[in-house]
Amino acid sequence: MITVNKLNKSYGDLHVLKDIDLQVEESQVVCLIGSSGSGKSTLLRCLNFLEQRDSGQIIIEGEEIDPAKQNINEIREKVGMVFQHFQLFPHMTVLENIIEAPTHVKKTPKKQAVIEAKDLLSKVGLSDKADVYPSRLSGGQKQRVAIARALAMKPDILLFDEPTSALDPELVGEVLTTMKELAEEGMTMVVVTHEMGFAREVGDWIVFMHDGRIIESAAPEEFFTNPKKERTKEFLKTTALK
Ligand code: ADP
Ligand code: MG
Repeated sequence: MITVNKLNKSYGDLHVLKDIDLQVEESQVVCLIGSSGSGKSTLLRCLNFLEQRDSGQIIIEGEEIDPAKQNINEIREKVGMVFQHFQLFPHMTVLENIIEAPTHVKKTPKKQAVIEAKDLLSKVGLSDKADVYPSRLSGGQKQRVAIARALAMKPDILLFDEPTSALDPELVGEVLTTMKELAEEGMTMVVVTHEMGFAREVGDWIVFMHDGRIIESAAPEEFFTNPKKERTKEFLKTTALK
């Protein structure tokens, strides 16, 4: 679904992504972990073309993407994104938030978009919140709406950037459960997370970043029980203390 070859990105003098190679297969859940500042968000933003790379290749579903030549909105329809801080529109109800992109970007007829949105709300367990404004929701509910909104565009791939990091601890579980259900349905997902339990249980592949590089990647069992690199061992020690 995604192939990244030798991706590089700098902000001025700061070299943030260094020769990143990454492969994501269909229906795989790839968990991206690493300490703050290691480049995880920048990598996701490059995959969604919110950020432009300096060099390297990004191939999505077999097609090399050049944002200078291709319609970025079409690519973004294939690759959805869920952010740490939800990014819901505060002046729109939950339902309006979900139908906004399908009706405006995809030109889905409103009636059909509403039916699909209600389906998605029931899927994330929020059927009763369709007409509520985001300010009336808990963080966990907001994030589940944000997931429903991303799904409304019927993406082939969903990117998550620390979807539970802004939540009170008691609300983390409901969002992880929703994500786990999506994974079980076969959604292809790249998840930046500090939730090692989730990464180990739901992830098919773990990628560890440090200082703009992929230091180590492996299947979860191997990664968590038998890390090879010193950096990885150190990182796992610090997360184990939390
Ligand atoms: P992570 O998500 O792993 O915490 P980021 O990808 O957000 O890491 O950031 C990687 C590095 O790039 C950090 O040093 C950060 O300060 C820097 N950075 C991120 N975004 C920008 C930006 N828009 N302009 C300048 N520097 C940035
Ligand atoms: Mg980040």
